[in-house]
Amino acid sequence: MEKQILTYLKCLVCGGESLEMGNDKIACNGCGASYPIKDGIPILVRPERQAEILNQWDLTDYRDIYNESTPRVGDLIKKYTAHGTMALDAGCGLGAYNNYFLGDLISFDISPFYVKETRKKYELPGRYFFVADARDIPLKKNVLSLILCASMLEHLPKEESDAVINFFINNLSPRNIIIEVPNDSNQLVALMRNLAYGRAMREAKASIVHTEEDHYRIFTVRDLKKFSFKVYGCIGWTSRQRFPWPKFWNLYDKIFWYLPALAGDLIGIYKK
Ligand SMILES: [Zn+2]
Repeated sequence: MEKQILTYLKCLVCGGESLEMGNDKIACNGCGASYPIKDGIPILVRPERQAEILNQWDLTDYRDIYNESTPRVGDLIKKYTAHGTMALDAGCGLGAYNNYFLGDLISFDISPFYVKETRKKYELPGRYFFVADARDIPLKKNVLSLILCASMLEHLPKEESDAVINFFINNLSPRNIIIEVPNDSNQLVALMRNLAYGRAMREAKASIVHTEEDHYRIFTVRDLKKFSFKVYGCIGWTSRQRFPWPKFWNLYDKIFWYLPALAGDLIGIYKK
């Protein structure tokens, strides 16, 4: 991990910005809090949660699960990033969007497995990887050009996903935010989604175990508009993968961009 990352970090415990990086930890000069670095990956969660993360270090629960990129989202990332800026891939999963970012990028996830896999694939100068919680990200305010949060918020209950969006806007205050989530605004879309994924979603709601396939919450256009996002529509990568008709989906994306309530996925764009 390059020390350059320290320019962007702050301490979760005291908010201090004077941090030092050793081989096996990042330490706060203000309050003495320390954050371990394991296999080159900083674990930037509060001290009381670090043991829990270390215990999951070698879990490969999610090894069969992967995510792909949605073309509309990839295009937006290119539009809103540039060389010489820092962006954030929040809940990066396996890093499906990593290649779209121009400039520097921090990728984090709460799952050590995802961070390790993403780092293995995409480690380059200017690309940083750490474990963190999306509601408690140890980054300074006003340092990011873009936050991407794709295929992530639907895996959190409503209060938690709202808390994450609030944290992005108020605590990190980036220039832009892109959120991509499945759509549930339209009864027909909702019915089709329920037929395709209903059982998994019901089981997720009844269970406290987070598995990547589970959706705790499906968003509506209004859920993003209330945070001042502009909302657009497209088809998600899951449908593109299940029905491999790229030309059809590209046309679909053109039509449903301005009809988000009827689209498979919602894309929210926030500009400061
Ligand atoms: Zn501190």
